[in-house]
Amino acid sequence: MLQIKNLNVSYGSIHAVRNLSLEVQEGEAVALIGANGAGKTTTVNAISGTIPSKGSIIYQGKELNGLAAHKVVKEGIVMVPEGRRIFPKLSVVNNLIMGAYARKTSKKELQQEIEKIFVLFPRLAERRSQMAGTLSGGEQQMLAVGRAMMAKPKLLILDEPSMGLAPIVVKSIFSTINRIKQEGLTILLIEQNATMALSVADRGYVLENGEIRFHDTAKNLREQDVVKKAYLG
Ligand code: ATP
Repeated sequence: MLQIKNLNVSYGSIHAVRNLSLEVQEGEAVALIGANGAGKTTTVNAISGTIPSKGSIIYQGKELNGLAAHKVVKEGIVMVPEGRRIFPKLSVVNNLIMGAYARKTSKKELQQEIEKIFVLFPRLAERRSQMAGTLSGGEQQMLAVGRAMMAKPKLLILDEPSMGLAPIVVKSIFSTINRIKQEGLTILLIEQNATMALSVADRGYVLENGEIRFHDTAKNLREQDVVKKAYLG
């Protein structure tokens, strides 16, 4: 579904991503793991068209590199950005509606889709009229995922969904990500929390200093000593 070949991104003299190649097959959940500053966000920003890059990003047979960010979304690649970026002054429901802005949907369909999101995230249902900026960090992350789902993604990219959240909240978010995966959605999961990421992913790539150091099935990565030591605590 997605094939990245020899991706390179530089910020001035900083070569943040080097010759990165990565593949995501339809229906797969793939984890891209790495420490702070490894180049994870840079990689997803290159895929989503928000920063320029060199190399090839083929999605469903089409070259994405050079395509504007809104066109990438139209192709069905939807990102949940690091730091969530929900609309703090809008209610939970209105944030969800914003997620569907690029599609033509009737009011009734929107309503039904919102109810589906509330089944995935019952905590959001209880807070449907609350201003999003007053939600807890975990609830905001749920809302960010819910909003992305409203765009009907074919490929969902999650940038560090665990960031800044308590372990119990992280568990709850990952259990929902797992459920979304079980429903057949293709997922690219960017994470520092390798334990959680490799618990839902089928395969994983380990990024270090802008380069892919290893890639393997999630099971094999969990068992590799060097991955265990550096990333699994
Ligand atoms: P984190 O988990 O901390 O977000 P990351 O793996 O997502 O880390 P990136 O944000 O992709 O890492 O950063 C990779 C490298 O590129 C870092 O050295 C960072 O300082 C640098 N970098 C990122 N954005 C910029 C920018 N706009 N200008 C200059 N350097 C940047």
